[in-house]
Amino acid sequence: MTATDELQTTETPELAEFRLKVRSFLAEHAPKRAARQDDEGRAFEATVADLATQKAFQSALADAGLAGLTWPRPWGPGLTSEHQRVFNEEAAGYELPTTAYIIGLGMVIPTMIEFGTDDQRERYVSKALRGEEIWSQLFSEPGAGSDVASLQMRAERDGDEWILNGQKVWTTGAQLSDFGAVIARTNPENPKHRGITMFIIDFKAPGVEIRPLRQMNGASGFNEVFFTDVRIPDASRIGDVDDGWRCAVAMLMNERVAIGSGGGGGRSVGVRPLVELARRRGVLDDAVVRQGIADVYIRTKILGYIGQRTRAAVKAGKAPGPEGSIAKLAGALLARRTSDLGIAIAGPGGQAWADQRESRWALGVLSAPASRIAGGTDEVQRNIIGERVLGLPKEPQVDRDVPFKDLRVGTQSSRG
Ligand SMILES: Cc1cc2nc3c(=O)[nH]c(=O)nc-3n(C[C@H](O)[C@H](O)[C@H](O)COP(=O)(O)OP(=O)(O)OC[C@H]3O[C@@H](n4cnc5c(N)ncnc54)[C@H](O)[C@@H]3O)c2cc1C
Repeated sequence: MTATDELQTTETPELAEFRLKVRSFLAEHAPKRAARQDDEGRAFEATVADLATQKAFQSALADAGLAGLTWPRPWGPGLTSEHQRVFNEEAAGYELPTTAYIIGLGMVIPTMIEFGTDDQRERYVSKALRGEEIWSQLFSEPGAGSDVASLQMRAERDGDEWILNGQKVWTTGAQLSDFGAVIARTNPENPKHRGITMFIIDFKAPGVEIRPLRQMNGASGFNEVFFTDVRIPDASRIGDVDDGWRCAVAMLMNERVAIGSGGGGGRSVGVRPLVELARRRGVLDDAVVRQGIADVYIRTKILGYIGQRTRAAVKAGKAPGPEGSIAKLAGALLARRTSDLGIAIAGPGGQAWADQRESRWALGVLSAPASRIAGGTDEVQRNIIGERVLGLPKEPQVDRDVPFKDLRVGTQSSRG
């Protein structure tokens, strides 16, 4: 009896029926992990290149009522975190072609559901859920990453419009996206957290320029985005003027939950590829290897339970809190443990592979460091956990009440 079968015997009839529905949907629409010829050694770019497949899959998922599972009605099917758990268990053996939608569906649209206007929700939510439109998140700037409230991009009001000028960086998927959620400085007279506003940006708008960046793993997952006198209507504003920090924090929490619960950069590959690799290398009986695989298995399970608890809290109406940071940190640690163990078992073949199946471990080592930075670094997550979970004293914030224009941040720091 497998772990999944065991769970099934204790499931309610409704959940068991849901499981069968998911199982039959995935069997029909999703490629099996092991069945994909390019499963091992596949680069991120291969998944984003396959956009038509992703769109078709997302559309089928929405038609089947299996997209945005825990989103409230009428925007999603309004199911429980138990349904999400069942879905994740069934999906574990598949390679879901959904990379392009992680940011939109995991972060931006849930924030829009919470803070957007009725018109915005009507216009954007369903198209995003069906995979017809892809979204990005534009927060980070060259001088504002961990301390993103120091951002310098400006939005100035001109009647019913706003004019945006500045630069964003590390914008994942901008080159594939239709829209983005961008935060910009609307009031430099206010302290840094109280003069920011969030907007929807159409990437096709005149004055928007996207330049892909090349990473050490060979992919171009993210971009620089330049804004020059980009005009957007006030109807594209999410939340109140100068209150964008609240929306941004909500989006960052959604991001950490999405990443930590397996929807983003830190997604674990699971133990099966490690077991198969150890078997091929003839070290499956090695005590150290077995201990390493057991460690990855335990961490994967714990991460699953953290994600489950978080989704249950969100479903019960609680905003994602510091537990999102725990999930994000655990996901990043797991990604590194898995890639470190994989490359150690693969040995020299993992770095200079003749067998294409072994290249995934080199790719893992080159990609895993990103998971400790994306969505807030490990150090920043530890600060949040220290302050908000353990009740340790807060970091000193000497700039909290100083007008932004008087701060020495970004290019402002070079003023005489
Ligand atoms: C794969 C990937 C995808 C990304 N996608 C996006 C995206 O789609 N949209 C977007 O807006 N951004 C994105 N980012 C950017 C990401 O959010 C930032 O890189 C991150 O917040 C860190 O900012 P920074 O790079 O400016 O580093 P910095 O903030 O300059 O940090 C440098 C170092 O200082 C440490 N540090 C900083 N502050 C503290 C502190 N208070 N206490 C202790 N240590 C501290 C950090 O941990 C880090 O080690 C992405 C990044 C990656 C790697």
